[in-house]
Amino acid sequence: MLASVLNVTYLVGAVALVLGLRGMSSPDTARRGNLWAAAGIGIAIATSLIYPFEGAEHNNYGWIAGALILGSIFGWLAAMRVKMTAMPQMVSIFNGLGGACAVLLAVIELQQAGAATGAAQLSVLMLTLLIGGVAFSGSILAYLKLDGKVWDSQVTLPYHGAVNLVLLLATVGFGVYLTTTGNIPTGLLIGLLVLTLVYGFSFVAPIGGADMPVVISLLNSFTGLSAATAGIVYGNQIMLVGGILVGASGTILTILMCRAMNRSLLNVIIGNFGGGGAASGGADGDQVVKTVNPSDLAIQLFYAKSVVIIPGYGLAVAQAQKTCKELDDLLSANGVDVVYAIHPVAGRMPGHMNVLLAEADVPYPKLLDLDAANDTLAGADVVLIIGANDVVNPDAENDPASPLYGMPVLKAWTAKQTVVLKRSMSPGYAGVQNPLFFLENNKMLFGDAKASLQELVGEVKNL
Ligand code: NDP
Repeated sequence: MLASVLNVTYLVGAVALVLGLRGMSSPDTARRGNLWAAAGIGIAIATSLIYPFEGAEHNNYGWIAGALILGSIFGWLAAMRVKMTAMPQMVSIFNGLGGACAVLLAVIELQQAGAATGAAQLSVLMLTLLIGGVAFSGSILAYLKLDGKVWDSQVTLPYHGAVNLVLLLATVGFGVYLTTTGNIPTGLLIGLLVLTLVYGFSFVAPIGGADMPVVISLLNSFTGLSAATAGIVYGNQIMLVGGILVGASGTILTILMCRAMNRSLLNVIIGNFGGGGAASGGADGDQVVKTVNPSDLAIQLFYAKSVVIIPGYGLAVAQAQKTCKELDDLLSANGVDVVYAIHPVAGRMPGHMNVLLAEADVPYPKLLDLDAANDTLAGADVVLIIGANDVVNPDAENDPASPLYGMPVLKAWTAKQTVVLKRSMSPGYAGVQNPLFFLENNKMLFGDAKASLQELVGEVKNL
């Protein structure tokens, strides 16, 4: 009887998770979606705590309560303190912890596995260990790289693609061998664990430049899969469902981002793409840029028919979204058609710009995706590029030596006039110069994005 009640409760938790995911598909409902998902996990945790009452011994509540309290405090503080621009680091580290949980479960179960453990059970445990281990060490390195604590050149070896392939084959081969032997000695289990962690680290090591978002999303799907396999081991429906949901949504996001960045999934899995960071050709330091002052730009914007705003990472750093909306309101009130061109990897996390602009109450229909934006950009009167750089780099189309080559970009240069708001001539995330800055139809407005926008708003109000 208790078991069926618990199963129904798990089902309720799973439904809440699905509703949460559904809510997160639009900025309007994302906050509610998050609450649904949190409620789903809350129900799952509460149910799992009651579960052992059915016959099993349960003397671990002190440990569980301690872990719950510590985990909740740590999670709450981290979420409250994190800056929006540091979200990918937080996602990476939390994802890594999920992988570590799966590894710990697998190690404990594999250690206890004896002759009676079936081949299917052993295979699932092994899969949990391998996927969770790669997700753990890969996510930790992704965190260190995103946080600027480790550089690509410090962890990339010559022929890294080949090294990764050998490591992958060795790890999987060792895992299959141990599974077939049935009884796994602790020494060999530790050996496999170390090999798995080394592979996860090495898998992420050569990936850099503009390709990190794809790897973060892929590691996220790995963690989901390892939670799902752990769910099979324990016969726990909610772990299975939750893991499958995370695994599937992470995989879908990976595929969408691969498409957006024009990378094949195979390249991602082999882990040898886009080292990035190397300065490519394109514009050199001797070229000069034209600048514009806020009052001239305000006049140009005020009397334009169409203005396209391209937000990027710098908008997030400057927290300029609300000032940007204020400028939009003033121009729109004067009959200017203002829209936003959103690149799928602008900023530092998937959907970063959507979240920022939703926070400033920019209506969703004003946000154009890559294809619609590129149609609109061609012939637009003025394009305001606010703290964006890599996502408008023409070298992605023109220079095969550029680490950005092949990534679809917003073709801002097809507009009549572009204006870039940034503080200096520093490059963006991929570390390469942007030839757009030197084009005939481009002007620069140097300064912090929020300060520049505030000046623009003031000038427009005076017109
Ligand atoms: P970029 O990182 O290419 O460029 C951002 C620009 O913003 C910089 O050139 C910087 O120039 C400027 N900037 C920084 N602070 C300010 C400020 N306070 N005011 C004004 N400007 C500022 O950003 P994009 O959004 O164009 O591209 C995103 C990049 O990040 C891509 O390469 C993408 O692959 C990568 N990435 C994306 C992730 C995602 O999931 N979205 C995750 C990880 C990486 P200056 O210093 O001169 O001001």
